[in-house]
Amino acid sequence: MKVKKGDRVEVLAGKDLGKRGEITRVLPEEDRVIVDGANRAKKHQKATRATMQGGIIDKEMPMHVSNVGFVCSSCDRPVRLGFRIAAGKKVRICRKCGADV
Ligand SMILES: [Zn+2]
Repeated sequence: MKVKKGDRVEVLAGKDLGKRGEITRVLPEEDRVIVDGANRAKKHQKATRATMQGGIIDKEMPMHVSNVGFVCSSCDRPVRLGFRIAAGKKVRICRKCGADV
């Protein structure tokens, strides 16, 4: 996966189309990410020892990585990412403007 935790992304499909947020969690086995504030669903939370309190809570659900686009800070829009090798390390670049991200 090209995106990682902390990346700013825009939702490209689904009910939160166009919404932007930060990736709070990456699930590499499922090719899914959790985006802060996006794809929220009501969960009926049972009271457990850990949460103490039950009830209906809003929870961000994982969404497929193909449904989000990395937002380049200079282009200010979802872009495709590429790589370049600098000093033996992979650096992610914006394919549109070529800036390192
Ligand atoms: Zn760019």
